[in-house]
Amino acid sequence: MSTTSAPAQPRFTVVFLLGVAHCGSTLLGRTLGMHSQVHCVGELLRVAEALEAKLPCGCGAQLRDCPHWAPRLPGLEKATKLDYERFDRALLEGLAIRAGKSIAFDLSKTRAWRLARRWRDERVGFVHLVRDSRGVMSSTVRAGTELDRPLSKHVKWSKRLVKFARKNPQRCHSLFYEDLCTDPRAELARLCAFLGIAFEPAVLRPADAVHHFVHSSASGYLKGSNEIALDERWRRELTADQIEAIEKKMRKIPELAERYLAVTAR
Ligand SMILES: [Zn+2]
Repeated sequence: MSTTSAPAQPRFTVVFLLGVAHCGSTLLGRTLGMHSQVHCVGELLRVAEALEAKLPCGCGAQLRDCPHWAPRLPGLEKATKLDYERFDRALLEGLAIRAGKSIAFDLSKTRAWRLARRWRDERVGFVHLVRDSRGVMSSTVRAGTELDRPLSKHVKWSKRLVKFARKNPQRCHSLFYEDLCTDPRAELARLCAFLGIAFEPAVLRPADAVHHFVHSSASGYLKGSNEIALDERWRRELTADQIEAIEKKMRKIPELAERYLAVTAR
């Protein structure tokens, strides 16, 4: 057998995306979710909140009316009462199998981290999506929020996730949002290799399918387009003071400082 071909069985059956809010998770879900072996469920661990707040599915319909989720919700409710702490690997694997796929991909980010600490299962993998804090915070400010509190929360979670990725290199693949946007083919090929699946060009055409993501992102950025472009609106949207405040925090996290500020963390 050639050493470059992907194994018949993927390395993981359940994969969680780890990242902070506004890290680009929807983009990664929409691209990887186009793979013939990957079933992206969106933020399934927040399904209770999505129903409560009447957040639509990624397809635009309410979850209870969505052709994908409506038939699945009763079983989910019965098995878990929609309490994410009761979700287990078998449940997520079952959803993937029902969709004719072999990997369930969940975008619940920080909430998935809580499950990660409990599930020490070699069939469960993680993707840590890292984005420049200035881009992340620009999205937050754009949504009409003050910078201070979200910035503290962002720093707390960035530290936790970076530490998790550092400690679990076998199970957690890190990738940068900016690299994903500038060279999606290379980054998605690397991710597929990590997951043990063959790269498929379909992942580069995320708008070619309807995505049934739970707790779908409200951002309309490039939705409906196959263009994968870097969102760097922070460069014109943030004030000099805001940038300074964010960079001060970034300097304390080596992975962010070295990548984005080209300085060694102190
Ligand atoms: Zn839907």
